[in-house]
Amino acid sequence: MQKTDILGKLQGIVGDRNVSTSSAELYCYSCDASQIRGMPDYVIRPENTEQVSKVVKVAYDHEIPVTARGAATGLAGGAVPVEGGIVLDMSSMDKIEELDLDNLQVVVESGVVQAKLNAVLEPYGFFFPPDPGSSAMCTIGGLIGNNGSGMRSVKYGTTRSYVLGLEVVMADGTIINTGSKVMKSVSGYSLTDLYVGSEGTLGVITKAILKVIALPKERSVLLASFETPELAGQAVVKTLASGIVPSACEILDRNIIEAINTYDPSIGIPEAGAILLFEVDGTENAVIEGIGMVSEVCRSLATSVKTASDKAERDEIWAARKMVGAAISRLDPMRTRVYVGEDVGVPIKQIPAMLHKVREISKEFDLPIMTYGHIGDGNLHTGMCIDVMEDGDWEKLNKAADKIHHEALGLEGTVTAEHGVGGARADFMALEVGNALDLMVAIKKALDPKGIMNPGKMGL
Ligand SMILES: Cc1cc2nc3c(=O)[nH]c(=O)nc-3n(C[C@H](O)[C@H](O)[C@H](O)COP(=O)(O)OP(=O)(O)OC[C@H]3O[C@@H](n4cnc5c(N)ncnc54)[C@H](O)[C@@H]3O)c2cc1C
Repeated sequence: MQKTDILGKLQGIVGDRNVSTSSAELYCYSCDASQIRGMPDYVIRPENTEQVSKVVKVAYDHEIPVTARGAATGLAGGAVPVEGGIVLDMSSMDKIEELDLDNLQVVVESGVVQAKLNAVLEPYGFFFPPDPGSSAMCTIGGLIGNNGSGMRSVKYGTTRSYVLGLEVVMADGTIINTGSKVMKSVSGYSLTDLYVGSEGTLGVITKAILKVIALPKERSVLLASFETPELAGQAVVKTLASGIVPSACEILDRNIIEAINTYDPSIGIPEAGAILLFEVDGTENAVIEGIGMVSEVCRSLATSVKTASDKAERDEIWAARKMVGAAISRLDPMRTRVYVGEDVGVPIKQIPAMLHKVREISKEFDLPIMTYGHIGDGNLHTGMCIDVMEDGDWEKLNKAADKIHHEALGLEGTVTAEHGVGGARADFMALEVGNALDLMVAIKKALDPKGIMNPGKMGL
C-alpha cells in the first residue's frame, strides 16, 4: 500500500489536525532527552482509546512500527522511533477520569502529567508518591513505561508499587484490561507487572488505575557533610541498617555542590567532599524521633550535621537538589552534559565501593564526574560534561560510561535503576540479565508477533 493511502487511513481515524508528516514536526519527534535519534514517518495525536486501537490495527496490518511517546523526557531513547513508522503522542489523552479516594485510587489516562495529578490530589490530602526530577513534565504512561521513581522511592517504592490495573492496546489493536480495583488479587499472571517497565515494546497503555496514599503530616530535612563520597556512602549503609526509613536520601558530591553554588550563589550549600540530604516524614513524633536517629548515626562519620530549622529552609534545600540538572552544565560553559552511563544502581552495602570506583574512573579518564542521586536506593547519577565538538571527548565519555556500567555489574548492580534501557543500554541487557533475555524475547514474540511495538529497544 502507498504511503499516501496509509496517511488517508490515519487521517480518517484521528482527523487531519491530529496527524503530522511535515519534516519540521517529524524532526521534533525524532529525539528525547538522550543521544538516540530516529525520524518517524507519521506523528499521530490520538484523543481516546478507540483511536489508539484503530491506529495500531492499521500499523499491524501494514507492519508499521509504533512508538508510544509521553513527554519524551526519557533518558534512554525509549520514545525515539529508531526504525521510523508511527509516533503515538499520548499527551492529548490527559484526563483524570475518576478520583476514587475512599478506595485510595484514581483512574487516569496515560498522558496525565505527574505533577498535575499531585496538584489535583493535594487539596484532598493525598498524593501519588513516584517523584522523578522530571515530575513537572513527564506523563503517567512514561512513568509506567519506564517504571520510573525518584527521590522518595527509598521509602515509598517505584511506580510499579502504585499500578493496580491498566488498559492496554495490544500489537494487533485489541484492547485489554489488566488488574482491577482491589488492592490485591492473585487471579492469574500479573499482566499489570509485565507492562510496567516494558517501555512500549508490548503495547500502548491508554489508562491506569493508580493507588494513592495520604500525605504525611510532617516532614523534616537534615544535611550531613562528609570529607569524601565514600564516607557519605558508609553513612547511608549504617543509617538504613539501623532501621530508619527516610522518605528521601540523596547524595551531592563536591562537583555538584560547586555547580549549584555557581548557578545560584544565594543557595550557599556548605562545601564538602559530599553531602547527604535526608528527609523523614510521618507524624510529628515520628519525624522528631527519625531525624534524631539519622543525626546520631551520621555524626560518627560526618564533619557536620544540620537540621533545617523551618519549612522555608527545607524548601530551599529541596530547591537546590532539584536545580542539579540545570546547574551541571553551568560549571563550564564550554562543556555540555551528556546523559550516558548516568543511572547505575548497586546493592546497598556496595554503595561506598561504587562511589569509590566512580572517583577512580574520573581520574583514569581525566574526566570530571559529578555524582548525585537517590543513594538510599543505591542509585547513582554520574553527570559527565564534554566539549561535544571534540571527537576525543566523546571517546573518553563513552569509555568512562562503559566502565561505570561494567563496575556496577561487577558489584551485582544494574546499568539502569530508573531511567530505562531504551536504545542507550540495549547492549548491556544480555550481560545483565543472562539467559533470562531469551524469555523476554519469547514474551515479546508472543505479544507482538510482527515486532511492530517500539522495535530496536531493550536488546529484544
Ligand atoms: C531533568 C530530568 C530529570 C529526570 N529525573 C528522573 C528521576 O528522578 N527518576 C526517573 O525515574 N526518571 C527521571 N527522568 C527520566 C524520565 O523523566 C522518566 O523516565 C519518565 O518516566 C519518562 O516519562 P515521559 O512521559 O517523558 O516518557 P517518554 O520519554 O515519552 O517515554 C518513556 C518510555 O515509555 C514509553 N511510553 C510512554 N508512554 C507510553 C504509553 N502510553 N504506553 C506505553 N509505553 C509508553 C515510551 O515508548 C518510552 O519507551 C528524568 C529526566 C529528565 C529530563
